[in-house]
Amino acid sequence: MQPLLSLEAVSKHFAGHQALRDVELGVSAGEFVALLGPSGCGKTTLLRCIAGFLIPESGRIRIEGEDITAAPPYRRPLNTVFQSYALFPHMSVADNVAYGPRRAGASRREAQGRAREALALVGLGEMGARLPRALSGGQQQRVALARAIVNRPKLLLLDEPLSALDLKLRRRMQIELKHIQEKLGIAFIFVTHDQEEAMAMADRIVVMHAGRIEQVGAPADIYRAPATRFVAEFVGEPNLIPATPAGPGRARLAFAGLELAVPEGTSCAMVRPEDVVLVEGAAAPDLATATGVVEDVVAIGSVTTVFVRCGDLVLKVARLGMSGADLEPGATVAVGLRPAGLHFIAG
Ligand code: ATP
Repeated sequence: MQPLLSLEAVSKHFAGHQALRDVELGVSAGEFVALLGPSGCGKTTLLRCIAGFLIPESGRIRIEGEDITAAPPYRRPLNTVFQSYALFPHMSVADNVAYGPRRAGASRREAQGRAREALALVGLGEMGARLPRALSGGQQQRVALARAIVNRPKLLLLDEPLSALDLKLRRRMQIELKHIQEKLGIAFIFVTHDQEEAMAMADRIVVMHAGRIEQVGAPADIYRAPATRFVAEFVGEPNLIPATPAGPGRARLAFAGLELAVPEGTSCAMVRPEDVVLVEGAAAPDLATATGVVEDVVAIGSVTTVFVRCGDLVLKVARLGMSGADLEPGATVAVGLRPAGLHFIAG
């Protein structure tokens, strides 16, 4: 099937600085894609190229097969929601949302009808008569969303739309926004530098690094099987265990002298903290174990992380709740790696 949006070798640079390098990506109709990466990696530049505010020097951007690389923003069947909602302060919420259709030539009656529908979709059906300042930050953000979807674009671009909200509201809005997106069936491309936000919302995550796409995949795949060290470290907390070659197709890990069959080019093994366990009593037979010394304990309520030194390696061990919070630095413990949690990274 033809993707809704396709990016083919898109490159963009500013005054000698290469902001995007050969970006290739396809987005399907109705899909929720998160662009994730650290500050300066090119997320906003990519979004602006898709929106038409920037034109790439090379490469092609297509929507449903049509080349829109150089088309002006208003000719593209998409809309953008920015971090600042920029609502008209003197207009009612309903008029704010009806403004777009009115400008596009809809009658007042029709524009108001579509505004009502869009406001109902974002859960603000009762708020049309209010002025923006009489709404909370989260509600204002939803008005901005209603305004962006009122003309039913095929694709909505969202540039860190939740970053002005406090953490609790932000977490709630993530869930709401995901539900609204599913209900609308509009494809979303959502820029964020918050890996939890990307994991919580997206069907697929595009991890970017220095203007390139580092990996594209479902959140669970990115988390369990990061393609590179950068992805392993940017998405979640990894334990990276150096691996040295030990004959064809085998490597020795810097943990308990463990020797394993590994893919070609493996330079380290990654294991998430929840796949490292503190062994009390007899270890399960498939568990590779080593003795270590507790260095630190960080208990934040929902999860406790125990830092255990095993030789040159400090392993993070995650435990649910306050379990392990009473361990003292200096205590000797046995740690084990769950074999199913081991993932090998090349390079
Ligand atoms: P952030 O999360 O901080 O917004 P980002 O991943 O969205 O970062 P971009 O805004 O796309 O990053 O910027 C990518 C790179 O291009 C950065 O190094 C930035 O300084 C540079 N850049 C962006 N816009 C311009 C511009 N108009 N002129 C010159 N350099 C720019």
